[in-house]
Amino acid sequence: MRIAIIGGGASGALTALHLARGLPVGSAEIIVIEPAEEIGRGLAYSTDDPGHLLNVRAANMSAFADQPDHLFQWLQTKGPCAARPTPLCFIPRSMYGAYIADIARELTAAGGMRHVRERCVDLVETGNSVVLALESGGIVVADIAILAIGNDGRPVLNGIPAVGPWAGDALKNLSADLPVLLVGTGLTMVDMALSLDRQGHRGKITALSPRGLLSQVHRNVKPIVVPANDVPFGAELSKLSSWVRQFCANVVNEGGDWRSAIDALRPHTQRLWRSTSLAQRQRFVRHARAYWDVHRHRLAPEVQTQLSSLRAAGRLEIIAGRSVDAEQRKDAITIRIVRRGQNEIETCNFARLVDCTGPIHDPRQSTNPLIRSLLARGAARPDPLSIGLDIDQEYSLIDASSRRSNRVRAIGPLTRAAFWECIAYPTSVSSVATLPILSPGLHLPAPGTSERPQQALQSAGKRASVKQSGAGNGTNPWRLRSDHSSPRQRY
Ligand SMILES: Cc1cc2nc3c(=O)[nH]c(=O)nc-3n(C[C@H](O)[C@H](O)[C@H](O)COP(=O)(O)OP(=O)(O)OC[C@H]3O[C@@H](n4cnc5c(N)ncnc54)[C@H](O)[C@@H]3O)c2cc1C
Repeated sequence: MRIAIIGGGASGALTALHLARGLPVGSAEIIVIEPAEEIGRGLAYSTDDPGHLLNVRAANMSAFADQPDHLFQWLQTKGPCAARPTPLCFIPRSMYGAYIADIARELTAAGGMRHVRERCVDLVETGNSVVLALESGGIVVADIAILAIGNDGRPVLNGIPAVGPWAGDALKNLSADLPVLLVGTGLTMVDMALSLDRQGHRGKITALSPRGLLSQVHRNVKPIVVPANDVPFGAELSKLSSWVRQFCANVVNEGGDWRSAIDALRPHTQRLWRSTSLAQRQRFVRHARAYWDVHRHRLAPEVQTQLSSLRAAGRLEIIAGRSVDAEQRKDAITIRIVRRGQNEIETCNFARLVDCTGPIHDPRQSTNPLIRSLLARGAARPDPLSIGLDIDQEYSLIDASSRRSNRVRAIGPLTRAAFWECIAYPTSVSSVATLPILSPGLHLPAPGTSERPQQALQSAGKRASVKQSGAGNGTNPWRLRSDHSSPRQRY
């Protein structure tokens, strides 16, 4: 069986790892299609700014659910010499990227995974296979495809001349004394404010979001357990919110910390999400999500200290409000802002606007060619909340006619509508580890016995220049060539 994982960020790398560990030896060939040189970093862990820390402690970020100290051990033996890790520390995200990349390298060297350094631009399911079209014009044929394409990080501030935060040049060529507007006050804003500080920026930094909420800070708190029987599964959002507030208050009244209460809900979040109606989920996303996020996804204490000192020095201002319009002038961007609860319009000038509103969630706004192709052909559809793709509880893609795919699965941020807590560790690790890759209904006939890959792509309205390769297993003429050292190779 050939399994093609599309996307080699942390989710793709860990999926490859756990499949290689979980499936019988020799039963599967695992291919990861990822344009980046290294597998494992993805968008989240590609930053090279050492001030960008994980928002989860090292003890909770092991790649192996059954070896919780694996990351800590790696840090001690292979981490940079300067690092003095403790299980409770928050390491730089670049270091975490190095950890996952190291695991991926070892897996590749052991023959457990193959890296195809390409971008996948389309995917067609035939009767007995999945045909993947690559940007270079080549194809890969697999029995199962797993979409692990992660976060879509393009700017979404339509009409506003903002730069994206992850391109690497967001803060380049910026005079140190000029004012900067960060649109959004979440974790991406925090990254950008810290990077500006690190590069010696002295100009005022303003951060703007409708509620002006900032993430709370982590504390070293005592874990508590809340039994499932106490959780009001299926309750209306207003009742659920009251219950969560009361639960936190009770913990605080007994001398504890509200963070313990929020953390105690983690094992129940997916079930809570599933037990609510679509209307309740919509209400949650619209009204409660921002509050949940700032309590659930917290800052490392050292990050919060830095932010506080920027604010205390008047170098960072957080504004709750919205922009009315923005105009690019010769040497500044003029933006008009209305503060929350006020009517007066303020006109402000900034040298640069950075879109820190986070990754795109609505797949219809995606610039990823694969998502665009799948949606255009009706092979996938947005979930009813438009925050990801529609998938079922076994991670199978659901198409525009409500048919469940037998061969195409999705993991990671794309699945947020089905599971909600799928975007952060350790949840994603455990969901990957339990990925029901071989569901009972899946039959895998011998490859290459019905529609040919090229025909499949063509009949799906796509053209792919197929280069047949003689290498491979001899039974399937469309197999991937085994030499994958050159990034220019065709398949
Ligand atoms: C800036 C940022 C910081 C974060 N920090 C944390 C944190 O500290 N702790 C935490 O638990 N979570 C964090 N998260 C949440 C994060 O989403 C998950 O932890 C996890 O890293 C997601 O990994 P992923 O592989 O699913 O996605 P990504 O990291 O987005 O990786 C997706 C990969 O897919 C590839 N790809 C995309 N399209 C294609 C295609 N068509 N063909 C081939 N390859 C493709 C991309 O090149 C990329 O390498 C953060 C997220 C972001 C955006």
